Amino acid sequence: MTSSNRSEDLKKRDLDAVWHPCTQMKDHKHLPMVPIKSAKGVWLEDFNGNRYLDAISSWWVNLFGHANETISSAIKEQLDTMEHVLLAGFSHETVINLSEQLIEITPEPLRKCFYADNGSSAVEVALKMSFHYWKNIGKTKKTKFINLSNSYHGETIGALSLGDVALYKEVYEPLLLDVITVPSPDSFNREIGESEADYAKRMFVHMEKALEQHHEEVCAVIVEPLVQCAGYMRMYAPEYLTLLREACDRYGVHLIADEIAVGFGRTGTMFGCEQANISPDFMCLSKGLTGGYLPLSVVLTTNNVYDAFYDDYENLTAFLHSHSYTGNPLGCAAALATLKIFNTEDVIANNQILSAEFVKQCERFQSHPHIGDVRQTGMITAIEIVKDKASKKSYPWQERRGLEVYKFGLKNNALLRPLGDVIYFMPPYVITPEEIKMLVDVAELGIELAVAK
Ligand SMILES: *Cc1c(COP(=O)(O)O)cnc(C)c1O
Repeated sequence: MTSSNRSEDLKKRDLDAVWHPCTQMKDHKHLPMVPIKSAKGVWLEDFNGNRYLDAISSWWVNLFGHANETISSAIKEQLDTMEHVLLAGFSHETVINLSEQLIEITPEPLRKCFYADNGSSAVEVALKMSFHYWKNIGKTKKTKFINLSNSYHGETIGALSLGDVALYKEVYEPLLLDVITVPSPDSFNREIGESEADYAKRMFVHMEKALEQHHEEVCAVIVEPLVQCAGYMRMYAPEYLTLLREACDRYGVHLIADEIAVGFGRTGTMFGCEQANISPDFMCLSKGLTGGYLPLSVVLTTNNVYDAFYDDYENLTAFLHSHSYTGNPLGCAAALATLKIFNTEDVIANNQILSAEFVKQCERFQSHPHIGDVRQTGMITAIEIVKDKASKKSYPWQERRGLEVYKFGLKNNALLRPLGDVIYFMPPYVITPEEIKMLVDVAELGIELAVAK
């Protein structure tokens, strides 16, 4: 079979047997399905020899490129020693090393690591732990959570409840927990001339009011520090988090930082919380945790929380939550290798050079009549296509203009998978300045096509 026949065969078999995530499968009547043969660094290669620059890190997970030597060999080494062992009653050196290192690099009061196997599960853990903590210390009225509008925390029922992106959530509304949603400090909506920090402070009034009114029934506030990634890459100023930490302390409410997408250098610091100089009561990590290799997630929390569960068994205060693959050694080995790269290379400083290149390349969009916003936080750059620049009014969503950019990208060596009409770059940190220019060039031509549609 020639390579090209092989590809056609795979596409057909795929559509016969596989139901893809976050996809209207009927779209594939006209959209190509792309079987990938191999991947190296920032590049994916299909069976016809076409290459695609992975501008979105394969859904925000990849940090140091595909087929990374350091991570691959760490997994192989672990594989030859032990693939998996249960983490109840048993332990292994890889999970112990990883936990120590995570405690070392996260803000000071975070001292215990609880593992799960994907981001949504980590959010479920944090949600249950927070509720259970308050119950264990006798605050049984606390059963609710506060979130921000336009937030995203995953797809399982609890995590979906804590999010607020209508596209994913609305249909399941009858199944979901009741949450208190506070307007997001999203800088996109600030007044002309208003600084992002001033806007964040102004928007905090809503959070203050919600906490004042509901704190007795609220377990925790959950936020994505600095960037609401699935919420169209909307961004806000760190000042909001500083105010939030202070208010949560004042009202006796936990703060859950969902750093699943923004952790591990994405925002320009190792963790988004660092830019506000705060520490949450729970920090959820996944995605980049294993460098994009294996599903693994972790919730870090404080000794204060841990101690509220620590008692004689008969008192039934234990956190009886588990997942089959909790603390999987292969995932932990990938995570340790990822941290090793952060330790041996100056990743954060190098990323500043790459971020600056994105700024430089995206200057071309500033005066574009159909670009309403170009925003950047660290290694995330987003361009919002709008119908009208002055009012920032969007195109009707049914027109699916962003999809045109996606299709154009596929024909021009770039995997750009927009969120609605928001084109964004969230590449592996091993991208080069030349590759950044190439990506932005492709995006620009794709956008011209999309707005001319
Ligand atoms: C992706 C994501 C999740 C969910 O993680 P999954 O591994 O996809 O379940 C939760 N929160 C945020 C902020 C995310 O970006």
